[in-house]
Amino acid sequence: MRVLLVEDERRVASFIARALRENAYAVDLAETGEAGLAMAKASAYDTILLDIRLPGLNGIEVCRKLRETGVETPILMLTARGLVEQRVEGLDAGADDYLIKPFALAELLARLRAAVRRNFGHTAATLRHADLEIDRHRRRVIRGNTTIPLTSKEFALLEFLMLRAPDTITRSEIVEHVWDCHFDNESNLVEVYINRLRQKIDHGQPNKLIHTVRGVGYSLHLSS
Ligand code: CA
Repeated sequence: MRVLLVEDERRVASFIARALRENAYAVDLAETGEAGLAMAKASAYDTILLDIRLPGLNGIEVCRKLRETGVETPILMLTARGLVEQRVEGLDAGADDYLIKPFALAELLARLRAAVRRNFGHTAATLRHADLEIDRHRRRVIRGNTTIPLTSKEFALLEFLMLRAPDTITRSEIVEHVWDCHFDNESNLVEVYINRLRQKIDHGQPNKLIHTVRGVGYSLHLSS
């Protein structure tokens, strides 16, 4: 899942970004409202974390402009304690939820999961397909009776395939939701990670789950 973080305080921003990356999110950072607005319009983020107090265009104005231009990405506002009017204004401007600073990391992660679940129409923490099961809270993957250890990036890729299964997803959709804006489009990282997932999920199994759809992309379904 890919998150846009709009936050001008560098220490706060790097703390949040690091924590999210450790939890398998791809994170792009914008330090001004103007930059955040442009990035949110240009890419399909899964969630936007939007600080209210920004120099120049503030978070509420950014939120309002995004909704006016039809961007429906879930928006979580980051607000200071006690500023009730700001929170009301943020929700009225089209934000989905807010977090009061300073917040616990566990709460941020829980609200992010909730926002992503709403966005994909999946409310369950556990996703299942055939004998493959992933627990999105504990980031645990089980096929049959075997727990499969995955890196953050492998997990993020598998989660995205599972969320869209059995539909075929294109390489560019994968890049957009699993990698951040520094992804080098010339690289073969998607193919590399798909192969790693195949090794871990399908190797030695009679029925394969991860399939290449030639000329289109990839799909997760049980081969018959
Ligand atoms: Ca700020």
